[in-house]
Amino acid sequence: MTLDPLSLTSSEFVAAAFASGRSKFDALAAYRRFHRAGERAQWMAPCAAAPVQQLVDDRTVKFLLSVGGDLETESVIIPMPHRGGRFSRTLCVSSQVGCAMGCTFCETGQMGLMRSLTVREIVQQLHVARFGVTHPFADETRASGGGFDIANIVFMGMGEPMDNLDAVLQAIRIFCDMNGPAIGCSRVTVSTVGRTAGIRALGEFIQQDGLRRVGLAISLNAPNDEIRSTIMPINRAEPMALLRQAMVDFPKRPTSALCAEYVLIPGVNDRLDHADELCAFLKGIRCSLNVIPYNPRRNSPWPAPDDATVDAFVDRAIANGQFTKRRRTKGRTAMAACGQLGNERVRQRKFVSLAIDPPATRE
Ligand code: SF4
Repeated sequence: MTLDPLSLTSSEFVAAAFASGRSKFDALAAYRRFHRAGERAQWMAPCAAAPVQQLVDDRTVKFLLSVGGDLETESVIIPMPHRGGRFSRTLCVSSQVGCAMGCTFCETGQMGLMRSLTVREIVQQLHVARFGVTHPFADETRASGGGFDIANIVFMGMGEPMDNLDAVLQAIRIFCDMNGPAIGCSRVTVSTVGRTAGIRALGEFIQQDGLRRVGLAISLNAPNDEIRSTIMPINRAEPMALLRQAMVDFPKRPTSALCAEYVLIPGVNDRLDHADELCAFLKGIRCSLNVIPYNPRRNSPWPAPDDATVDAFVDRAIANGQFTKRRRTKGRTAMAACGQLGNERVRQRKFVSLAIDPPATRE
């Protein structure tokens, strides 16, 4: 019987190993070696050893993993610079191949949904980032050889995590397992288009010990329903008032993060009165605002915004009393930047239906 450390927490893995005649001590040691040193025991389920493709743009690395049926996951390793020229790294993981949400500014949204990923396909992205990708930067060394030390995980790759929530929650349990990858739960963030049922389910999930500081990011992207419904079809089914109430109700802790993401698109949502309206919407919700300059998808109708417009928008939000950060764009030329993941080759395929009600209409 093969056991799968990519699908099971350490306690589940040890219980399953014990039931199949292995010692608990040996099983736990093997689980730790797998997640901490990349050593796979022969009696464990196979795991992808390396990406099928790896692209580098400056210090951002995008890699693709095959998940069968000519489908691939896309993941991005993003450098976070620190003093002294050192880097920590954030891994952006996919929860689905493609996405059914159809946001008009997003490359993945143009693909449609191919299918949701399994737990092992999500966790495997971290494993390969740590032990499978080729480290391309000669001026950085890593004690254990190839791969990257990953400090943070964000569910901001392909897919809507709330549409694959059971798998996402189990993946988070594994990411944060102190006998496994041991990512601190405050370093894991789930980003959603605004599925309110999923936000509430995540709020329940993080009531558990050891998971209380998992972060939530809301992809807001508009100051009002009129604009949001034109760029995010989900808004026609779940308008901003519903979303705001879910954000208000989401359990917040002094050290945990609730973040509103705002992709700034020229001529769509970038005016200063939009900033005022947005801040009025966020008033009273304890959250930070993250302004992301639009990264043009393929065949984009919009260009990227200029720096002056982004800075003016951020300054106006700050002047409104809203804690606001500007995200620096990384990986744009490798189509690895935010909103740019997605394989053009598979766009022609049929969509699959969702387990949860889709937006009322879609583009
Ligand atoms: S922005 Fe997120 S939810 Fe919208 S289409 Fe892209 S991946 Fe899906």
